[in-house]
Amino acid sequence: MVAKILDGQAVAAQLLTDVATRAAGFAERVGRAPTLATVLVGDDPASHTYVRMKQNRCRQAGLDSVRVELDASTTTDELVERIAALAADPGIDGILLQHPVPDGVDEHAAFEAIGAAKDVDGVTLASFAAMSFSEPGFASCTPGGIIRLLDAYDLPLAGRHAVVVGRSRILGKPVGMLLLERDATVTFCHSRTVDLADRVAEADIVVAAVGRPELVRGDWVKPGAVVVDAGYNPGNVGDVEYDAAAARASWITPVPGGVGPMTIATLLAQTMDGAERRHP
Ligand code: NAP
Repeated sequence: MVAKILDGQAVAAQLLTDVATRAAGFAERVGRAPTLATVLVGDDPASHTYVRMKQNRCRQAGLDSVRVELDASTTTDELVERIAALAADPGIDGILLQHPVPDGVDEHAAFEAIGAAKDVDGVTLASFAAMSFSEPGFASCTPGGIIRLLDAYDLPLAGRHAVVVGRSRILGKPVGMLLLERDATVTFCHSRTVDLADRVAEADIVVAAVGRPELVRGDWVKPGAVVVDAGYNPGNVGDVEYDAAAARASWITPVPGGVGPMTIATLLAQTMDGAERRHP
């Protein structure tokens, strides 16, 4: 079997076309473009690149973005204050705090300052709870993007055994909760999991979210499984051994061009949702 490609680039492009139409309608009705505030603390080059990519996508889709850059010496209180001001600003529809913040800053306190209404990146505790109980709210963007991608190909989730490798707050845990809400049977694996290969071999759907190049070996993959590789390591290498996994899987995400574009498209779609919710 040679896996078919879950083309995140193409699905994201479609989603962004829809966002652009909605953004134009919003601008006409409300008199301004929907607006995302991005907050960047410190000078991590990768974070600067990610924020730039998100702002470019905003521009292409007709959204405004307001960029707040703070230096690495910013304290938690200062950051919380800046974010709280954005949360209170009626001209801002969504707020993204780029992860990670410098050591010494309490990232979770800063995330909470966003508040659920503008948490279009889905990082607050309230958003996690809403997502876990299928209540209205914003999904964590990468997990939300993964579900949108699987849905775009009509891949069934109910009753499937999904094995999520990784349990971070922004990726592993929320994607597992979204899969559970869609009636998959979910197993979480992490650094203390014994017999990872055996757990992965049981999966109908594997989600790799680790940050270790090719940790998930191709010969662990059950023939016909769906493989989603959220990993992004230097040199465009994912967390799955791609060629060997693609030889066994039924569907697979490429790296790059799989999960990455869906994350940004989901961020913009959720900014649009937030803007429309605030200006019905
Ligand atoms: P993270 O916070 O570092 O979490 C990594 C997770 O992997 C942890 O739960 C850790 O377990 C687990 N892990 C580490 N070594 C393991 C091992 N040997 N076996 C099994 N599990 C292991 O990373 P993250 O933020 O979730 O990101 C994961 C990957 O996704 C990275 O490559 C990142 O670049 C990528 N990513 C991509 C996007 C995108 O848009 N495409 C967005 C976000 C992240 P413990 O909990 O036990 O430590």
